[in-house]
Amino acid sequence: METTVTEFKVEKDIECKRCEFVAHSRSEMLQHKAKMHNDERKSRYQEDAFTCALCGWSSRNRPKILLHIIHHPNQYIDETIIDVSILKKHGILN
Ligand SMILES: [Zn+2]
Ligand SMILES: [Zn+2]
Repeated sequence: METTVTEFKVEKDIECKRCEFVAHSRSEMLQHKAKMHNDERKSRYQEDAFTCALCGWSSRNRPKILLHIIHHPNQYIDETIIDVSILKKHGILN
């Protein structure tokens, strides 16, 4: 008999490498990291990324970020990271 690998779709608990926190999903871990470990030495790569405060979604792709903010506009946007003037112009952000 050949061995078949069972595919588990269920997300496993993810342990934080920086502390004892255990997340139950990827997005939960992303939120935890953004909240608890965002004062760490950041690489240029990370500095450039936008992380949504509402769902933990993250990207460095400006057009995608702007589209995401349209869906989740009720959050603080750091305008030094992402230029939201076009969204303000269209009345999407105040
Ligand atoms: Zn942690
Ligand atoms: Zn979001």
